[in-house]
Amino acid sequence: MEKTVLVVGLGNMGAALAGTLLGAGYDTWVWNRTKEKADILLQKGALWSESVWAAVGSVDYVVMCVSNYASSVELLSTCPELDEKVVIQLTTGTASDANSFEGLVRQKQGLYIDGAIMAYPSAIGDQNCLLLVAGSQQVWAKSEALILKLGGQAQYLGEEVGAPSHLDHALIAPSIMMQMAVIQGMHMAQKAGVDLDFYSKMMSSLPGSLKADLERHTRAIIDKDFSEVQASIRTWKEALDRVLEEGQTSKINVDLLSGVNQMLGQGVEQGVGEEDVAALTKIMS
Ligand code: NAP
Repeated sequence: MEKTVLVVGLGNMGAALAGTLLGAGYDTWVWNRTKEKADILLQKGALWSESVWAAVGSVDYVVMCVSNYASSVELLSTCPELDEKVVIQLTTGTASDANSFEGLVRQKQGLYIDGAIMAYPSAIGDQNCLLLVAGSQQVWAKSEALILKLGGQAQYLGEEVGAPSHLDHALIAPSIMMQMAVIQGMHMAQKAGVDLDFYSKMMSSLPGSLKADLERHTRAIIDKDFSEVQASIRTWKEALDRVLEEGQTSKINVDLLSGVNQMLGQGVEQGVGEEDVAALTKIMS
């Protein structure tokens, strides 16, 4: 089995990727702009690439993980020839970043896999760690073993290399919004002088009921069937109107909720006010 890899970028994530591959028995060449970050890996047996591409002739795979695609492009543009090596790009970017980068890798006669990491560095190598990846079937078949060492739950999404980014973004949205919802609630409770420990306990019991909401909404959108209405868009709008009014009189910051209320208002204006909130997807353009 091909087990030689060059890891480019040894920040928090790149170092975790390189350490995991090294632990999994790969001959692991490493390069980082700031060499000191390689010290621990070199002590553990990693090999130092004297320049970013010095070791590329000795490896089968290149794993890239730097801050952004602009830096990746800058680095790759100095690469002479990839000669059928597989570049696994794990830097976070947009779908269009992934498409352009694939073009650049192909110009250099390389093979390409794009990925998005759904985990912190401490989870890399874990059986439950999820990586989303895409690229040609043949390149996936060639890279699967290595990628599964990084994330036991790696999911291949098909040939369109922008797919991991699209899914990543669609997951970032609920993740940050759910966290912001907690921050908003704590701010309101704090301003109102509510017992925060008691309130935080009440919030802990929410996930149970939210789970049912999430399932109802996702099902309604997939099936395009919004007939089950637990609370209409109009009802939610009226509730938020009261919260915003209270926010103004009591000087509570409700900026986040204003945006949501605007969206609910558009739903009412555009004729879906009596439907469940999932029906807002019908008017989102
Ligand atoms: P980080 O700790 O800030 O490391 C950034 C890396 O990029 C360093 O190796 C840095 O080199 C390198 N770099 C930046 N600009 C460069 C340039 N112009 N030329 C060469 N190298 C350059 O970030 P990280 O947490 O490892 O994140 C790396 C990527 O993983 C990001 O795209 C991030 O979105 C993604 N990611 C991270 C996490 C996470 O939890 N950390 C989770 C999922 C995805 P120097 O050491 O020389 O500065």
